[in-house]
Amino acid sequence: MESIWTKETEENKKYKELKGNIETDTLIIGGGLCGILCAYMLQREGVDYTLVEANRICEGVTSGTTGKITYQHGLIYDKIINTYGYDKAKMYLEANQMALEEYKKLCEKIPCDFEIKDSVVYSINNPKAIEKEAMALSRLGINCEITDTLPIPLKVAGALIVKNQAQLNPLKLAREIARDLNIYENTRVTELTKNKAITENGEISYKKVIVATHFPFLNKHGGYFLKMYQHRSYGIALKNADNVRGMYVDESKKGLSFRNYKDMLLIIGEGHRTGKSSSAWQGLEDFARKSFHNSIVVSKWATQDCMTLDGIPYIGQYSKSTENLYVATGFNKWGITSSMVSSIILKDLVQGKKNKHSSVFFPSRSILHSQLLVNAGESILGLITPTVPRCPHLGCALKYNKQEHTWDCGCHGSRFDKEGRVLDNPANGNKKNI
Ligand SMILES: Cc1cc2nc3c(=O)[nH]c(=O)nc-3n(C[C@H](O)[C@H](O)[C@H](O)COP(=O)(O)OP(=O)(O)OC[C@H]3O[C@@H](n4cnc5c(N)ncnc54)[C@H](O)[C@@H]3O)c2cc1C
Repeated sequence: MESIWTKETEENKKYKELKGNIETDTLIIGGGLCGILCAYMLQREGVDYTLVEANRICEGVTSGTTGKITYQHGLIYDKIINTYGYDKAKMYLEANQMALEEYKKLCEKIPCDFEIKDSVVYSINNPKAIEKEAMALSRLGINCEITDTLPIPLKVAGALIVKNQAQLNPLKLAREIARDLNIYENTRVTELTKNKAITENGEISYKKVIVATHFPFLNKHGGYFLKMYQHRSYGIALKNADNVRGMYVDESKKGLSFRNYKDMLLIIGEGHRTGKSSSAWQGLEDFARKSFHNSIVVSKWATQDCMTLDGIPYIGQYSKSTENLYVATGFNKWGITSSMVSSIILKDLVQGKKNKHSSVFFPSRSILHSQLLVNAGESILGLITPTVPRCPHLGCALKYNKQEHTWDCGCHGSRFDKEGRVLDNPANGNKKNI
């Protein structure tokens, strides 16, 4: 199923495939929005780099995003203040404000249907949570407004509006930026040694490496398979529906998200941990039929993102013991700004410079959060479930997904089609015999 962005964006430029051996100062693995912005920033700084992409660029999670650019990430600020204190929350806010400003500048030059919009987080039944987030934001110096009436077909208990945020067509922007970058497509890194990346048809000698593969594929370091899980959501684009004049998201992971694109309304929701299930597109279509009587579904898609233990991405050194190896992951469905934040932080770190916002995203911070127990429990369940087929990543049982006709892993979120081709990592390659 094609996302609205794939449908509405011109065919991608094709890039060469690596054949033979090359050398580079900084190797970037992964050509989604994150890898591309890292390459763009390094090119701007005059650093020698190479980006390699296993398939075609921007065909991973980036092609299924909702395309909202905001520093209002659900109810994150109250949570960060309570967990790590005011200074860390301020750092998170400043880094994401900087990201929004970078997009505003970039999008002046690149046509990508960029529009300034208000961002709104609403709650169906928890007005207190909205009030607390409003207090956190105003402590951090952000003007915001509370309301309980929104132009979306839901009765909300409370909603928080932050003005002057933005939305875009992410593929138009990413593909245009990529045009002048040093990229190899159809080049999967299958193994990484201390200074060489092994691909099917060649080796790349590097000094530094950034892993921007969505879910990091190296298991030996960093414990990402315990520190993250993946959450899958479904999207539909409707014609003959309302103009909702903004960007809306439920504070609950199970709720709906709305925005317009051209003459269409996008609705995203029915989310669940990958490997579980929901009413998927059927649920969204039932809602659309009830709310917008004459609407027609013109596009359907699904995608998933990596969720961290504390709601903050992991950006920086891959693990304490891996000098020169960097990571950007765990964007918690806020990867448009987080990809930009990653590119700003990592361009400094690979050049041996300090970055004043990096400590809040430090990947080796404490893992003592209740979500760790849930992740461990799901992994144990996946490992002891005796069914075949098994996931080649760490051996968990795969479950058949009737909605999408795929085999999905409930432990870490890898997915395969009926032929065993990998659709979503951390599994780093196809599965023989499904
Ligand atoms: C339903 C949904 C809605 C969202 N909406 C928003 C939103 O409105 N705003 C927002 O800020 N964020 C949003 N996000 C989050 C955002 O879309 C993602 O966080 C972001 O697109 C991730 O980009 P990425 O570059 O990390 O991953 P990807 O786009 O998946 O790119 C990773 C790339 O790495 C490649 N790769 C993997 N392994 C290898 C290897 N071994 N060798 C070479 N290449 C490899 C893959 O092929 C892939 O192309 C949403 C997420 C979801 C799930």
